[in-house]
Amino acid sequence: RAKGRGSNAVEYYKSNMIHYFHEHFQVENDLRRAIKNGEFSLAFQPQLSLITNQICGEEVLVRWHHPDNGTIPPDKFIMIAEETGLIVDIGEWVLREACIQKKQWIEKGLPTTPISVNLSLRQFLQHNIVEVISSILEETQLHPSLLKIEVTESVSINVTRTLEVLKQLISIGVKISLDDFGTGYSSLQYISQFPVHELKIDQSFVKNIGNRQNSEGIISLIIRLAHVMDLTVIAEGVETDEQRTYLENQGCDKVQGFLYSKPLISTEYEQFLKQINIQ
Ligand code: C2E
Ligand code: MG
Ligand code: MG
Ligand code: MG
Repeated sequence: RAKGRGSNAVEYYKSNMIHYFHEHFQVENDLRRAIKNGEFSLAFQPQLSLITNQICGEEVLVRWHHPDNGTIPPDKFIMIAEETGLIVDIGEWVLREACIQKKQWIEKGLPTTPISVNLSLRQFLQHNIVEVISSILEETQLHPSLLKIEVTESVSINVTRTLEVLKQLISIGVKISLDDFGTGYSSLQYISQFPVHELKIDQSFVKNIGNRQNSEGIISLIIRLAHVMDLTVIAEGVETDEQRTYLENQGCDKVQGFLYSKPLISTEYEQFLKQINIQ
């Protein structure tokens, strides 16, 4: 019996692997076409300051409009884009579009708040990433302080290089946020060396507010840690009033989540900003 189960497990594993490789190959080819045909778009999700009660920025989230399969969320393709290196082209496109959009909004008189752009590990470790970012800022004439780069703790895989890139980005005036904070494997020893401006509490902790004391403890610790290090702290994935109230009582500076808005396309987001400003 044990033998039977074992071979079933192997068959199961094999069919999964075949499926995986098939899909992976398919996605890779599709991504190449998507880059050529411009199948990507940007969505924008507002961030709210709990101190001023005003919108204090937005995060850019990439969307892929597949001609046959509809809109594909980043969780389904960023990893493959990363493994194949295609993320470098996609990421550069996202950065440029985000800066162009922000510049336009500022020229239209919308608030001069920073726009946050996610950078994947591979993109962040590109040898010329600082040049890429500074030339996009130059080209779009966006003030560097209005661009915030979100990186995850995964950058601590190469501490020396990360320190170098972060220092250079900061010297050109760009802001840095540590995304999904608390979920990585890096030690506080590394993290505390990184010159960043903001910690972003991962949504997995936020989701458990009211259910798990552990998560609440971790959240309050991250908020205190941020403030001790003189950083601002934002919570992502805020969906309920209860979560917001908890975060506010703990002294969290900013929140982002479905409670305020899901990620919106640019015209919708512009409307959102205008309505908020009238109130
Ligand atoms: P992230 O940077 O941590 O982004 C937050 C994710 O949470 C987004 O998912 C957002 O839509 C979602 N979210 C926002 N508010 C809520 C909420 O209240 N509840 C819940 N359940 N979810 C919420 P999305 O857009 O699917 O992006 C997933 C991940 O893909 C991002 O996580 C980021 O790591 C990556 N990503 C997205 N856009 C880009 C990009 O342009 N470049 C790179 N390298 N990665 C990106
Ligand atoms: Mg992010
Ligand atoms: Mg995050
Ligand atoms: Mg995340």
